[in-house]
Amino acid sequence: MAQVMRRRIVIEGLVQGVGFRPFVYREAVRRGLHGHVRNVSAGVLIDVEGQADVLREFTRHIRTSPPLHAAISSVRSESAPPCAYTSFVIEESADEAENATLVSNDIATCDDCVRELFDPADRRFGYPFLNCTACGPRFTIQQGVPYDRARTTMSGFAMCGTCRAEYENPEDRRFHAQPIACPECGPSLRATATDMAELASERTALALSVAELLAGRIVAIKGLGGYHLACDATSPEAVGTLRNRKNRETKPFAIMTADVDAACALCELGVEEAELLASSTRPIVLLRKRENCPIADDVAPGNPWLGVMLPYTPLHHLLLRAVGRPVVMTSGNRSDEPIATDDADAVDRLGRIADVFLTHDRPIAVRCDDSVMRVQSGAPAFLRRSRGCAPLPILMKSRAASPVLGVGGHLKNTFCLVREDQAFVSQHIGDLENLHAYAALLDGIDQFSKLLGVAPRVIAHDLHPDYLSTRAALGMPATRRIAVQHHHAHVAACALEHGVSEPVLGVAFDGTGLGTDGAIWGGEFLLVEKHRFERVAHLGYVPLLGGEGAVRHPARMAAAHLMAVYGADLRGLTLPLTDAFARGELELLRQMYERRLHSPHTSSMGRLFDAVSALAGVCTVARHEGEAAMALEFASDPATTGSYGFDVSDTADALVLEPASVIAAVVADVAAGEPPSTIGARFHNGLRDVIVDVAVRVRARTGVGCVALTGGVFQNVLLTERAVAALVARGFKVLLHRRVPCNDGGLSLGQAAVACATMEMA
Ligand code: ZN
Ligand code: ZN
Ligand code: FE
Repeated sequence: MAQVMRRRIVIEGLVQGVGFRPFVYREAVRRGLHGHVRNVSAGVLIDVEGQADVLREFTRHIRTSPPLHAAISSVRSESAPPCAYTSFVIEESADEAENATLVSNDIATCDDCVRELFDPADRRFGYPFLNCTACGPRFTIQQGVPYDRARTTMSGFAMCGTCRAEYENPEDRRFHAQPIACPECGPSLRATATDMAELASERTALALSVAELLAGRIVAIKGLGGYHLACDATSPEAVGTLRNRKNRETKPFAIMTADVDAACALCELGVEEAELLASSTRPIVLLRKRENCPIADDVAPGNPWLGVMLPYTPLHHLLLRAVGRPVVMTSGNRSDEPIATDDADAVDRLGRIADVFLTHDRPIAVRCDDSVMRVQSGAPAFLRRSRGCAPLPILMKSRAASPVLGVGGHLKNTFCLVREDQAFVSQHIGDLENLHAYAALLDGIDQFSKLLGVAPRVIAHDLHPDYLSTRAALGMPATRRIAVQHHHAHVAACALEHGVSEPVLGVAFDGTGLGTDGAIWGGEFLLVEKHRFERVAHLGYVPLLGGEGAVRHPARMAAAHLMAVYGADLRGLTLPLTDAFARGELELLRQMYERRLHSPHTSSMGRLFDAVSALAGVCTVARHEGEAAMALEFASDPATTGSYGFDVSDTADALVLEPASVIAAVVADVAAGEPPSTIGARFHNGLRDVIVDVAVRVRARTGVGCVALTGGVFQNVLLTERAVAALVARGFKVLLHRRVPCNDGGLSLGQAAVACATMEMA
């Protein structure tokens, strides 16, 4: 008789809400092991006894083949005196919160559940809230830890007998599925008018909403992390109405299609894109539109890309199948406000946009927008990391001595909490341009702190004193506050994602970020090592005429660059651009330029893109940030080879990339009648060349051969792919963002990284 051993195994990581205990149960029972498993605040505790070799094999299996959505960060195991257990059971969680565990992400409806949803013989046939141990809502319904039904917004729904039996049956695929529900006992649908008066319920509510969509009307739909605004994506009238009412002129809307095939009919899909679309995150994926794409032009005006996602809740599956055509699914908000989650708030804010509400009675605990991704240089990259990913942690190489909070930037805000060696980047909070967004940031930090059981006392924030995120940081109790330069944070985030701790050359190109000299930076080459950085090169300064407002006036940026080259009086120049100015505007700009009124210095690459876009006649007025730069990218002909050369001057402090030589070349090409497709391509090629030029010079001086490309400008696929290819050809190791966006959504992670490195130095 082999010896009986007992072991207590503590598994830490993402192990709650992902079917971990049922998995452990089945593996133990299969091997005839006895004992119990339960959630504890640190993760999952398995107390198990059996023969030594069986136990060893059991532990190995748990470690190496955990459930699909689990992520184990550590396994600790100790032996204990055997106590003759006679069975294996799952114990209810003990309410100990000394060190809270990870919180799981929301997981798209699994294939088994979709099958049941459309099986007339199933008791959950057509039930919009079905889920199982392997899928369903998690983060967006969670109110506390450990993850248990009582601490979710499902706590108000008492399980019926049948559901309870499934929940308690270890052989059932809904064993311990916390949000388990059925038509008997779970949440239910309602359709209401904009005054909240009920129009229909259950199946009739769905049918009514489908009919409204098909009739070209706008339906506000309560989803997982907030409301969407939906309409028929093939109807120009419906999409036009939605645009008008939402007060958003050109920002693209995302659409939802029933499945991969339906997406494929609209857009070009590679293998990677198809996988990304169908992944359990179910992000919005940017896809290239096909020639005769039947989607209304107004969905993504002037944009060769279309944001497409697949259904990720049972309600979406039912709706899309019934509508039988692609549907616009855009955030349920007014313009730039946060997405609505609360029912009364939704009616209040969306009542003038939507015709009908399709809603339900399961509250949303955590606001969470859809994630946005694309395939770039052969692998998935984030444009927005949110639903389906948050709050999964990013593992760091070293442990933070104490919890750290990075409050993020001003636009596309996220925040980041670091606990030990895990960085929890929040869902997308949005642009902190209004009090709604600011409140969402404070709420979010509060929620995260609670769910993760940490109260950070070290707070990292941007250098900019007027960002609302900075104000939030200054208003919180802290033992230490660390101001992190914007582009330093961009580079640090990229390095952290790749676990790189040696020095890197960060190429940080974006719209704006306050520099250490008071100028507005944005075309930066920073040599980053640990908590420090050295600005080794940057785009030459020009005055930002009229300050930050220039973001919406690419033509003004062009004027600033022209004045820097040709002097303040532009009357001698004959360019099509001069028509873009109102009467007297050029004279006003001249005075601003000469007297340096409201015109801080800027080295912004985003603004240089704007200037070239305007000069080339592509875009002179931008309705949203980055529009002119994007239009220039889209206009560029990838087959054009020539390039505009930057003069690089070697000053005492840094290399300076003079924009003047590029501007003069653009002006010459415009005068020669070159089309925007050529000018745009030559500009992109010129940037590629100067990136390589600077990287080679810096490597010669310092030996640093690792280059991180970061900042919102690298959302530009053309520039990124060209720069990567050219750098790799010269023997550089290139880092692109893979875990957080290259735009300001990744700043919070970088701020936290710099703060951690700073503490390590102390
Ligand atoms: Zn399922
Ligand atoms: Zn039930
Ligand atoms: Fe930035």
